[in-house]
Amino acid sequence: MNSTPGTSTLPEPDDVAHLRARVAELFPALRGDLEALVRIPSVSNSAFDQAHVAASAEAVAELLRGAGLPEVQILHATGVAGPLGAPAVVARRPAPEGAPTVLLYAHHDVQPPGDAATWDTDPFVPTEVDGRLFGRGAADDKAGIVAHVGALRALSALGDLPIGVTVFVEGEEEVGSPSFLPFLNQHKDLLAADVIVVADSANWKVGVPGLTTSLRGLVDCDVEVAVLGHAVHSGMFGGPVLDALTLLSRLIATLHDEQGNVAVEGLVSAPDPTVDYEEADFRADSSVLDGVRLAGEGTLTGRLWTKPALSVIGIDAPSVAHASNTLTPRATAKISLRIAPGQDPAAALAALRAHLESNAPFGAQVTVHDGETGKPFQAPTDSSAMQAARWAFETSWGTAPVDIGIGGSIPFIADLLDVFPDAAILVTGVEDPDSRAHGANESVHLGELKKVVLAEALLLTRLAQG
Ligand SMILES: [Zn+2]
Repeated sequence: MNSTPGTSTLPEPDDVAHLRARVAELFPALRGDLEALVRIPSVSNSAFDQAHVAASAEAVAELLRGAGLPEVQILHATGVAGPLGAPAVVARRPAPEGAPTVLLYAHHDVQPPGDAATWDTDPFVPTEVDGRLFGRGAADDKAGIVAHVGALRALSALGDLPIGVTVFVEGEEEVGSPSFLPFLNQHKDLLAADVIVVADSANWKVGVPGLTTSLRGLVDCDVEVAVLGHAVHSGMFGGPVLDALTLLSRLIATLHDEQGNVAVEGLVSAPDPTVDYEEADFRADSSVLDGVRLAGEGTLTGRLWTKPALSVIGIDAPSVAHASNTLTPRATAKISLRIAPGQDPAAALAALRAHLESNAPFGAQVTVHDGETGKPFQAPTDSSAMQAARWAFETSWGTAPVDIGIGGSIPFIADLLDVFPDAAILVTGVEDPDSRAHGANESVHLGELKKVVLAEALLLTRLAQG
């Protein structure tokens, strides 16, 4: 097929129909491959046997060898004392001269199963119930691996596309990808790509695809309020001087306004999302108690995805069991601030520090210790890669994808952007709201998984056409 420079051509309807039929034909075997992966208990948490993580890397390498990628390697990051972290699988078909390269990411490690009694089925025995396949990793993220393998198998029948493909399946995502950054830097040449597809997120709901286009970032700090040189008797001194816990509470209370919006000046918000949650669903999912009013203003998705959110996540103070009738001289709180897409983390932390320091109650000594910072993510919504993805998802589902935000962060996305600043990152996934990733009874919807495989095959076809 020819394409005019500056415009992109869509695959012909015949190609789409052919691919759809091909994916349907391949799907039973693919599902068998997913089941085989779920049977390997590749829990990356160090309290579990890491031989299973090595075994899952081998199994993934074998699947990729069978998917038409000529170079398949199992690699580690290297530290001063030898290999670091869990084994990752990197499989490649280098790009023909002048053609783009796509990197397909997933992870082969899983969360611990938790209490087996809370599962309805054995977590490591894949079991189908009502069109969903249950098992630890069935969704997060072994289905992501299978989506990549399935798309490549479907395309190999169409002959080699004019596009380079690298599949990168890491083995330590569920423990925070500790050696991800050194791995990226040490294998930069192998992993360099124009478009990165991260298949580790979720769709909006069964029947409605989603592209994850924003993630909030995170900053935190410890704030100490000091009021006395040492603890003193609350009967002898109480009255003219307030204790540190009372003063810390008053300081914390300044961080939100009366409606529960974050009151720290200088923080940014991104525009409201186009979809919203039903309040009843949010209340059920979050287990908020009857009678409790929700905080903040605007849409619920805006409050969750595109505005800052601030929580007190710990306080160092005398425990109730050890309480005595003294005025506490000093107390410390850890403040966690989720930041909106578009917010600079250092600026957010500086704004939080300035707020805390300028609101010292009764002139108490306020000391702020800066903590961690993590960048938010906002995908450009009109890039050619994003347009290709929208077309592929809409063609596969018959329904346009929804732009989804995530209130939390995926820390490795920031690492990918640091190392490959020019790559377009597409965050896709196979989960739906009932997938229960990380929880008991994790599952993937098999009908949706088939649509994900087709969407990814269509995406690669479209990207190959430029
Ligand atoms: Zn995951």
